Amino acid sequence: MRILLPILILSCVSVLFSHDVFGQRKKKLRPSRNFTIEAIAPNVWVAIHNEYFGKAICNAGIIDLGDKTVIFDPFMTPSAAVELRDIARKLTRRNYAYVVNSHYHNDHIRGNQVFLPNATIVTTTTTRDQIERNEPGEQEWEKKHAPTLLAAVRKRMVNANETERAELPYWVGYYEGILESSDQLFTALADQIFDDSMWIEGNQLSVKIVECKNGHTVSDAVLLIPKLGIAFMGDLLCADRHPWISDGDVDGWRQHLKVFYEDKLYTTYLPGHGKVSGKPALKILYDYLGDVKRMCDEARTDSAQAELMNKPIPDEYKSWFCGRFYQPNLQYLINVAKAKRQASIRNGKKEGQR
Ligand SMILES: [Zn+2]
Repeated sequence: MRILLPILILSCVSVLFSHDVFGQRKKKLRPSRNFTIEAIAPNVWVAIHNEYFGKAICNAGIIDLGDKTVIFDPFMTPSAAVELRDIARKLTRRNYAYVVNSHYHNDHIRGNQVFLPNATIVTTTTTRDQIERNEPGEQEWEKKHAPTLLAAVRKRMVNANETERAELPYWVGYYEGILESSDQLFTALADQIFDDSMWIEGNQLSVKIVECKNGHTVSDAVLLIPKLGIAFMGDLLCADRHPWISDGDVDGWRQHLKVFYEDKLYTTYLPGHGKVSGKPALKILYDYLGDVKRMCDEARTDSAQAELMNKPIPDEYKSWFCGRFYQPNLQYLINVAKAKRQASIRNGKKEGQR
């Protein structure tokens, strides 16, 4: 017993305090069903959405600047955001000072409300305006239609094939999250807006938030930690999955990815969806966007467009998550290409009349 007692005491201590890869004392955190927390550098943590029925829906970040805490993209549901808030408090031993929204999509912004009144919510001027314009209508639409959509997804699960079995739990989590939060949501708009870029400076670490126009949406903000070579990309980067293109500008988006790919300062990227990635993920998405755009540009007739819509997903992207985005992405790009051709015909006629 004399020998056993010190061993017992030591093992209890190691359960209470373990150390992460950066040698920091890691507090014991209550695990979440909605996301997992990873330390990717000293004082930088990412929260990766659990795609198996989780209700976070997007990835988030926590950065301890030394004297203040920054939260990036606080999820879609207030319930998941509360967990993120409490974990951030435990990890940084203070209240959060800033919450950054990368863009206006519902899955990146609706956790804002749980950080009030302590936090300053930051985003670009355009994103703030988009949230103000879109959210009331979108929330109303979801309230009306989410029950039917959730029932359809659950029904689909009964006879799902292998791919669907992997993906449908994501959509169950999504619609359940929308339903669960619909009565408690309010639109918490940014109280600090910026154009181009802004810094949040701390006494140990500083972050730069940069606006990338005309990418995944008309205005996306990325959060950069230059000292550590880390970039939180929002939905400008999605890893091993089809991104949602139908609100974006593919040429502008590819240009942003190219700039990040060529910038040697950054090597670690948090995508809006998917796992923490290195530089190759930027190139892979750049190629995907180029491939789908080219296919849509080349399908000029109704029959060629119908044929493209019926073709299976190309082999290199077949295993990607969110396969259900592929066809809407094609349809969107076919419509964009069509509109461009019509505009160029109109402009040509005008030129001829001069
Ligand atoms: Zn998005």
